[in-house]
Amino acid sequence: MYNLVVFGAPGSGKGTQSARLIDEYGLYHISTGELLRDHIARDTELGRLANTYISKGNLIPDELMIDILSHTLDSNPETARGVIFDGFPRTIEQAKALNDMLAKRGSKVHAVVGLEVDDAELVDRLLKRGQESGRSDDNLETINRRLKVYNDQTAPLRDFYTSEGKYHGIKGSGAIDDIFNAIKSALLPTRG
Ligand code: AMP
Repeated sequence: MYNLVVFGAPGSGKGTQSARLIDEYGLYHISTGELLRDHIARDTELGRLANTYISKGNLIPDELMIDILSHTLDSNPETARGVIFDGFPRTIEQAKALNDMLAKRGSKVHAVVGLEVDDAELVDRLLKRGQESGRSDDNLETINRRLKVYNDQTAPLRDFYTSEGKYHGIKGSGAIDDIFNAIKSALLPTRG
């Protein structure tokens, strides 16, 4: 059982590195962004509600997001073997709730990988992604809003997890393989 949080600004490479880490460690992947986009694509009630926040670059309210995550853990028994949390938590309140949820299941967050990329490169990457992904939130206005939300609400998690002794900051620019190798080296001592 090994639970890993992959943390970083929009465009920092969370999805790309999570996909590799799943293959490497055989963990269950929970991407809250993908989960919400799936609801939007299926036009569910949750999808319509989520889209009102996502399209503006704002976060889904904590209470709702925590409920969704708790439900995802309960309804997927494979999560018991360990999870990569990609895009969750994004606030201190979510991080505390995650600690509680895992403690109730007799587990914990084992490590947090923080992908560190400067703002100019993030904007560049997100604009490029927007041309290919068709994501409604990859346009300049929403990107700027998402980066502000990240700096105000999500970046404080770095101190939260540093004080828990779990934070591993990794330079998130350069070749994908080099970043992946740096993550694996940093996590090696946490793998037990
Ligand atoms: P992502 O794919 O991780 O960049 O997420 C896309 C969008 O989904 C974010 O900009 C938020 O609007 C929403 N979202 C994803 N995860 C969370 C979360 N943990 N808390 C609140 N909102 C979230």
